[in-house]
Amino acid sequence: MRTSVIGYPRVGALRELKFATEKYFRKEISADELQSTAKDIRKSQWLVQKVSDLDFIPSNDFSFYDNMLDTAVLFNIIPNRYSDLGLSALDTYFAMARGYQGEAGDVKALAMKKWFNTNYHYMVPEIDDSIELKLTGTKPFDEFAEAKALGVQTKPVLIGAFTFLKLLRYMGTKTAEDYTEAVINAYSGLLGRFGSAGAEWVQFDEPYLVYDLAEKDIALFEKLYSGILSSKKKVKVLLQTYFGDLRDCYGSVSSLDFDGIGLDFTEGNKTFELVTENGFANGKLLFAGVVNGKNIWKNNYKTTLSLLTELKAKGIDTVISTSCSLLHVPYTLKNETKLPKKYTGHFAFAEEKLLELAELKELSECDYTNAGAFKVNAALFESRPDCFDPAVQERVAKINDSDFTRLPEFSARETVQKKEFDLPVFPTTTIGSFPQTADVKANRTAFRNGGISVEQYVEFNRKKISECVELQEEIGLDVLVHGEFERNDMVEYFGEQLNGYLFTEKAWVQSYGTRCVKPPLIWGDISRDKPMTVEWSLYAQSLTKKPMKGMLTGPVTILNWSFPREDISLKESAYQIALAIRDEVLDLEANGIRIIQVDEAALREKLPLRKSDWYSEYLDWAISAFRLVHSGVKAETQIHTHMCYSEFTDIIKAIDNMDADVITFEASRSDLLILDSLKESDFKTEAGPGVYDIHSPRVPSVQEIKTALDKMLEKISPEKLWINPDCGLKTRGIAETTASLKNLVEAAKELRNENS
Ligand code: GLN
Ligand code: ZN
Repeated sequence: MRTSVIGYPRVGALRELKFATEKYFRKEISADELQSTAKDIRKSQWLVQKVSDLDFIPSNDFSFYDNMLDTAVLFNIIPNRYSDLGLSALDTYFAMARGYQGEAGDVKALAMKKWFNTNYHYMVPEIDDSIELKLTGTKPFDEFAEAKALGVQTKPVLIGAFTFLKLLRYMGTKTAEDYTEAVINAYSGLLGRFGSAGAEWVQFDEPYLVYDLAEKDIALFEKLYSGILSSKKKVKVLLQTYFGDLRDCYGSVSSLDFDGIGLDFTEGNKTFELVTENGFANGKLLFAGVVNGKNIWKNNYKTTLSLLTELKAKGIDTVISTSCSLLHVPYTLKNETKLPKKYTGHFAFAEEKLLELAELKELSECDYTNAGAFKVNAALFESRPDCFDPAVQERVAKINDSDFTRLPEFSARETVQKKEFDLPVFPTTTIGSFPQTADVKANRTAFRNGGISVEQYVEFNRKKISECVELQEEIGLDVLVHGEFERNDMVEYFGEQLNGYLFTEKAWVQSYGTRCVKPPLIWGDISRDKPMTVEWSLYAQSLTKKPMKGMLTGPVTILNWSFPREDISLKESAYQIALAIRDEVLDLEANGIRIIQVDEAALREKLPLRKSDWYSEYLDWAISAFRLVHSGVKAETQIHTHMCYSEFTDIIKAIDNMDADVITFEASRSDLLILDSLKESDFKTEAGPGVYDIHSPRVPSVQEIKTALDKMLEKISPEKLWINPDCGLKTRGIAETTASLKNLVEAAKELRNENS
């Protein structure tokens, strides 16, 4: 059997591309210098893959910002507002990615969206009727030639015609169907050129095929590929899918003239069933996605090899592949110097996955049960040190239905709380964090490096908290926060205090463009030894008579922004975390904190791609995990939650079902459409749609906020409306924060006057 990788990470093992690109943005290095860093990165990655004995090495998986954007530029899809700037090709590209403000003009960036169910974000290209879609770029050919010159034969990778057309944003009157001919020509042109350049295979990525597809979609897919494949001469074409299975289009895919089909056996719940029940098209190669491209655990050879054996027994010619691009995992364990071997031995980042592919290839060709590599691997799955905590497991096992139900029910609580807090109508609050000024970060760093004592660290933060409380009192906010000065990150802060978590030093994963994140790893059963936030919250509460919100991150967000375990279900992990956070909620309450906010910024992150799976596979337990967190509090205790988006029209019932008392969410950048659905669904939870955008340093005027509020009041009844910014203020400066919040409070006052 041969081996294949769908795509490799590209920011550089130590984020070299990120740093070079940001230097280029700051004009500290030239375009040539940036290009040369990029070239070095590509070279070292191709060579790493080559020495690992990988058979299908990808090219064109590199990107300065994003592959969707690359594909748009390749096909001449550059809106006039960017080409009109008259910049170099590279700068035009970056203008599309990040916007441009300078001598040549002032334009916003293209929109950015989550790439399927990952935490990677792609740029959404825009096409209007004036744009002629045609093959004009050369990036894939250049990179293919670049690899070839290094002695590396690659398999160029491109986003496929169907996925590309489905993800484009159509600004004019034309739709996807109107571009079929142009797209067929462009992709046929690609195949022709790769043929002449000496490519043996070209990979077209079609993840859109794993969504629920309508007949019209399937017809479009068939039309595109009948066209593209009819021009195929020398080059073989691999149709690569990932992030799910092909239950809606397996037949179409099989009947088209592809030379290879890539199926995801990791995330594709029905992939094996599809292959078993329908067979696999004769004469085609099956690229079997068996090495997980999304998680960092070592592959279980026993499971994988028995699958490969079954495929072989069916007479299927199989290539061992990753389940998706390795873009979603960090580079290499080699850079982790602090984690003990007893843990790292269980992990495989991108480079280690190459080794796994090589081992699997070898093992698949022999009687593997006695092979050394197989035994070493099997032993790993039998011994997981520090992993299981019977007490935690027992607690999870004992959860029963009543643990998910908070009593009394919502409306009774609402009445109790109105009395208890006696807040003005339209209460004002913030989302939690206050500006993380340089001294705040320096204090944390100094403490971490042992530069200052615990006492010094605490004293500094207390000073910050008291300034923050004083500022909020002066501004006139109604429900206060402590400011979160002790937190680096809303997940890491809790992970570091929970048992069961591990942290890496260099395990960065690209989130978008030059932004990378370093998700913590859930190693074992999660538990909490002692209160994590109580002291800070109590101190803050002691400084004011107004209610001080306790501030926690919810279980679903903690889970979704970590690398999860594979030996237990996501649901079970979520419940373990929920129990730990529940204890924190109860401790806050027992200590006199009367309002507690549990942030679920990433609730939507792992929503399944197929709507039919939303509840059964995800929302049922995700919402339950949240309910478990707060079901134990008294009627008088008010539970808030916060989300960083308002895209929940389609899951609005589930959101209301979280049974929080108040929800605040991002709404200022979206068109407030969400308000209609709040009204239509008779949303019971009190709501604070963000009244201004904290992602920009702009100070919103009183009038502007007032206008937003008036709109909100058309859809939300006055006793349910809260007034707040749309997210935490940590990235903002003090001056603009103060000015903005003063205007917010002023707008609230005007609204109260008009409505009293
Ligand atoms: N409470 C957090 C903060 O204010 C929420 C952050 C978030 O929603 N991403 O920073
Ligand atoms: Zn937020």
